[in-house]
Amino acid sequence: MNLQRLSQGHLKTLQECPRKFEYIYLSSLATLSPTDRQQSMQFGSDFHRLLHQRELGMPIEPFLAANPKIQAAVHGLQQTAPHLFAENPEVERASEQVRTLMISGTDQENQYLFTAIYDLLLLGVKAQIIDWKTYGRPARAERLEQEWQTRLYLYMLVATSDYVPADVSFTYWFVQSDPPQSVTFGYSDRQHQETQQELEELIDRLSTWLQQYRQGKSLPQVEPEKQLCQNCQFVARCDRREKQDNVRMPSLSRLDIAAIDEIPV
Ligand code: SF4
Repeated sequence: MNLQRLSQGHLKTLQECPRKFEYIYLSSLATLSPTDRQQSMQFGSDFHRLLHQRELGMPIEPFLAANPKIQAAVHGLQQTAPHLFAENPEVERASEQVRTLMISGTDQENQYLFTAIYDLLLLGVKAQIIDWKTYGRPARAERLEQEWQTRLYLYMLVATSDYVPADVSFTYWFVQSDPPQSVTFGYSDRQHQETQQELEELIDRLSTWLQQYRQGKSLPQVEPEKQLCQNCQFVARCDRREKQDNVRMPSLSRLDIAAIDEIPV
């Protein structure tokens, strides 16, 4: 029996290109330089950590005073969405909560441990998933709704609790907008069933690919027509350069940040 851990980042990459999934997660070929990692993730890491510390009752003002950019984001959020910070004895608050869900492949040889880390859960009569997005511009709602994070986190909260889909919602807060902006998605039985079916189909495909990988065969590449290779750090390794005329070569360090979870799990 083989155990494979899957987060929303894994699903996103797998859906985009199975070969990229292989390179990043099975072969550990992707790297970010410390400088790039620091530049692209430091603000997000600090913001998430500070709000987690606040939920734990720890003082954060000294750090905010020394970090004006984060201070502006936290204060902007507190002014725009005070309800997120209001204590309510009927609502349980859970910060940085990890939920896991084991699903077996139909071949019974592979098990998949799905993992979700919730920035903030507000659990009352209804359940609200709150997620801090720390990149600059808000993403389009249509795209966000299809993101694996949205679908997996809603699915896992229902699957690991007594809440029914109609009682669960997911709100993204874009904390670097001025003022902060939010996008909220509800959930339904139909969406829950669709996500479950898609997850089952996906892990069945992955089980087949993993079995072949252990026998020395690589996972499939995305079709060139999808135009994803030009922005992939593995374009040379995949020999996709000649099929992508007149495109700029990516640097190793600037790519695949999106393929890695905002807070790695
Ligand atoms: S270059 Fe294209 S085929 Fe190769 S890993 Fe990247 S997206 Fe996939």
